[in-house]
Amino acid sequence: MPAMIPLNGGDLHINWQKELARAFTAPDALLDYLGIDPEPWRPGFGARRLFPMRVPRPFADKMRPGDIHDPLLRQVLPLGEEFAEVPGFVTDPLDEHDSALPGLLHKYRSRVLLVLRGGCAVNCRYCFRRHFPYADNSPGREGWREALDYIAAHPEINEVILSGGDPLMAKDEQLATLFDALEAIPHLRRLRIHSRLPVVIPARLTAALRARLARSRLQAVLVLHVNHAHEVDDILADALQDWRRAGITLLNQSVLLAGVNDDADRLCRLSERLFEAGVLPYYLHQLDQVQGAAHFAVDDARATALMAQLLARLPGFLVPRLVREIGGELSKTPLDLGLEPC
Ligand code: SF4
Repeated sequence: MPAMIPLNGGDLHINWQKELARAFTAPDALLDYLGIDPEPWRPGFGARRLFPMRVPRPFADKMRPGDIHDPLLRQVLPLGEEFAEVPGFVTDPLDEHDSALPGLLHKYRSRVLLVLRGGCAVNCRYCFRRHFPYADNSPGREGWREALDYIAAHPEINEVILSGGDPLMAKDEQLATLFDALEAIPHLRRLRIHSRLPVVIPARLTAALRARLARSRLQAVLVLHVNHAHEVDDILADALQDWRRAGITLLNQSVLLAGVNDDADRLCRLSERLFEAGVLPYYLHQLDQVQGAAHFAVDDARATALMAQLLARLPGFLVPRLVREIGGELSKTPLDLGLEPC
C-alpha cells in the first residue's frame, strides 16, 4: 500500500462528520422537528426494527414543514407498509450476496464494484440493500489489499466503481490512500463513485476531496442519487458546480418511487434542476423488488407512459434511461426501448 497522503478537509470536513453524528434516528424527533404530530403515524414506527432510521438534518431541512406527504420525508420515514409480505419481494433481489471476494463484485467484464463502507448517511426505506450482510462483505484493510490484487490481476478491468453503503462515508484520507493504490494499476482508466451522501449532507463535497480527484490520472465520475428536485437546494447546486468546473463528470441516477416522483411534472423538474447544478440525468431505475418496499413500486406500464411524457417535454440529453436490474443479468435491462428522444 502506498504512503497515505494527508488531506486537509478544513471546516467542511469537520462539519460533515458532525452532521452525521447528529442525524435523526427516531421518527418522533424527526416529525417533531417538522411540526408534524407523530401520533397517527406511530404504529408504523416499528418498521425501524426491520431497517434503522437515519436522516441527516440538512436533508430534513429540505422537507416541507407540516407535510406528512412530503416526497423527501416519504423516502426515509419508517411506515407500517414495510411489514407487508408481497410475493416477488425478497431480501436479495439482485442476488448479490455472493461476491468475488468480500467487498468486491465482478459482475460486468470491464468494471468491478468495490463495497468500501457498509453504512450510509441516510437509510432510504426502498433500499435494495436493506438486508445486505455488510458485516460479511466489508473488506477492511486486509480485504482492500486482496481486492486491489484481484483488480491488478485482471487486465480486462478498466473501471472501479466505489459503492456501499456509501463510499463517501470513508474519510478523505482513507479515500486518498485507496486512490493512490488504484492509480498505480496501469490498466485502470476510470474511477466512479456512487454516493447519496452529498445530497443529504452537502458539506461532504469537501474542497480537499475535489482537488484530489481533479488531479487523479483516472477520469473521475461522481454518480449522485437524487429522486426529487427539492433535494437539490442552492447549497448543493453551488458545490456541484464547483466539482463540475474541476473536471469531475457528474451524473445522477434516480429510483422511480410511488408517492415521490411518479409524476411527469416532478420528473421534468428533477431533470431541469439537476442540469442547473451541472449534473446529467443518467438512469431512472425501476424499484428493485426488495422485501419491505413494495409500497414504492410503480408498474412498468405506468413507468413507460411517464417516459413517453418526458421524451415529449425534455431535450433528449435530459431524459434518463428507464432500466431495471435483474439478478444474474450482465447488464441493466432497458424498459424504454422503442421510445426515441428528439
Ligand atoms: S443511500 Fe443508497 S445504499 Fe444507502 S440506503 Fe439509500 S439507496 Fe441504500
